Amino acid sequence: MDVDELLQHHGVDTDQLDPAPPSPSWKEMRDHLALMTGCAICGDTCLSAWVVGATVDPRWVGLCRCHTPGVLSELAAPTVLGGKVGAVHG
Ligand SMILES: [Zn+2]
Repeated sequence: MDVDELLQHHGVDTDQLDPAPPSPSWKEMRDHLALMTGCAICGDTCLSAWVVGATVDPRWVGLCRCHTPGVLSELAAPTVLGGKVGAVHG
């Protein structure tokens, strides 16, 4: 399951998420992770930051520790998913 599918699965309205730059740098993602208020699904502390919506309508998504592993389970590398890069707290 990638991040878009995860949000869909939980019925998260991505229109409510903060607009993001189309392809943020690694530093931008890491910096934004520190600013995120809570998991897009449950509101818990964010462990990872992602951008969904690709180039059409990019939005920031933060995920907590509980919701990040479901996304990460299919990853070869822990911070890249289906061509998407996510910033994850070390
Ligand atoms: Zn969560």
